[in-house]
Amino acid sequence: MLTNEYLQRVYAEVERRDANEPEFLQAVREVFESLQLVVDKHPEWEKAGLLERFVEPERVVEFRVPWVDDAGKLHVNRGYRVQYNSAIGPYKGGLRFHPSVNLSIMKFLGFEQILKNSLTTLPMGGGKGGSDFDPKGRSDAEVMRFCQSFMTELYRHIGQFTDVPAGDIGVGAREIGYLFGQYKRITDRFDGGVLTGKGLSFGGSLARTQATGYGLCYFASEALQHLKGESFEGKTVIVSGSGNVAQYAAEKATQLGAKVVAMSDSQGYIYDPNGVDLQKLFDIKQNRRARISVYADEVPGSEYHSGCRDIWTVKCDIALPCASQNEMDAIGAQALIDNGAIAVFEGANMPLTPEAIELVKSNGLLYSPGKASNAGGVATSGLEMSQNSLRLSWSFEEVDERLHGIMKSIYKACYDASCECGQPGDLMLGANVAGFLKVANAMMAQGVV
Ligand code: NDP
Repeated sequence: MLTNEYLQRVYAEVERRDANEPEFLQAVREVFESLQLVVDKHPEWEKAGLLERFVEPERVVEFRVPWVDDAGKLHVNRGYRVQYNSAIGPYKGGLRFHPSVNLSIMKFLGFEQILKNSLTTLPMGGGKGGSDFDPKGRSDAEVMRFCQSFMTELYRHIGQFTDVPAGDIGVGAREIGYLFGQYKRITDRFDGGVLTGKGLSFGGSLARTQATGYGLCYFASEALQHLKGESFEGKTVIVSGSGNVAQYAAEKATQLGAKVVAMSDSQGYIYDPNGVDLQKLFDIKQNRRARISVYADEVPGSEYHSGCRDIWTVKCDIALPCASQNEMDAIGAQALIDNGAIAVFEGANMPLTPEAIELVKSNGLLYSPGKASNAGGVATSGLEMSQNSLRLSWSFEEVDERLHGIMKSIYKACYDASCECGQPGDLMLGANVAGFLKVANAMMAQGVV
């Protein structure tokens, strides 16, 4: 409940203006609920209109993306870039290509990104972008033409000191390659620092592909050890999704001694009591771009169940939701609790509904919000930018070690902030407060802009 009057007033105004943006309202509400204590201590923020400015994006660009498919048919998609907050660095955040993309989803992701980027300790502001284009089932040539059309508008809004996009759902190495190629062609500049997640032969960073999933497990290990005296060793794990984040979360959890027994895509989930064969899964998803059901067709002893939401009914110790927003509701959370799970660490952005978070926390499970536990992706994007500026490439081990160090420091920042707020171990509270304070200080120092 919001009790602070300033927060109540600003939230009411957001609700009035953005009534048709449910995901955005959900994200703002969650953050505001965590900020009550710190806002009480800073009356000067109200005078400076700090929160009114914090919830309003600095700039939103919306544009037409026309393209022609292989059969010669014309399509028009909608493109977005939400440049949310540049108080601590250039806007930074991924591009999402998925039919569900709309302004509400772009704004919630951009808003979360401000705090996430702040937690990484690197100088990056928050932004997000994308399109309602669906790359599924499209040929490489169609994806290329779409990316070229998208960049033909986007290029004028980005730059290494302005805004640096990366990948997200539906945008992986292939799409970043096409986007970069078109940017370079239009501007006649090899401006490596303008996009991250690039291929290794043109300025990409080793370990960027693995970073979000690996970082999630580094964060989780730290929290498990510190708050429960536990580790991944011998644990049964569910990883929802089977995209970039899920694949490498599953790989690292397995390397750390866990058994991953279930994974999903948007159509259904697989259950493999022997532990998911990751080489098989990577082949199905990375090379064949096929549905996850193919896994059960090819791996004896495994099962496929249609409907991805039921994945949480599989018995596990640790759940790593790595697919999409609001993928775990109260029913899913209750199933985990009933099966004796000890922890939920978010790999996706906002995968738990507010009701699911409440249930998980009140039943004593360890819980971390995506803005803290999935920050390894953007942190490594920050390391890619550093390497581009230095005109150097670090080894896989060097990047991985820096990533590991960053995830440990994010955990510590969240934990310390939770203690300062009198609720030790509430990592959601800690993440929101620690992320916000840095941005708030920078915004106050820079005046009313
Ligand atoms: P990918 O596109 O690589 O994979 C997404 C996975 O989630 C696929 O398995 C997809 O299934 C599934 N999925 C997508 N939408 C839904 C849905 N509505 N319901 C159920 N499943 C769904 O994306 P990423 O792995 O990159 O991203 C996953 C999550 O992690 C997102 O929330 C993203 O914002 C977040 N994230 C990603 C980062 C990164 O570095 N990539 C960094 C930080 C956060 P299908 O193939 O059937 O669509």
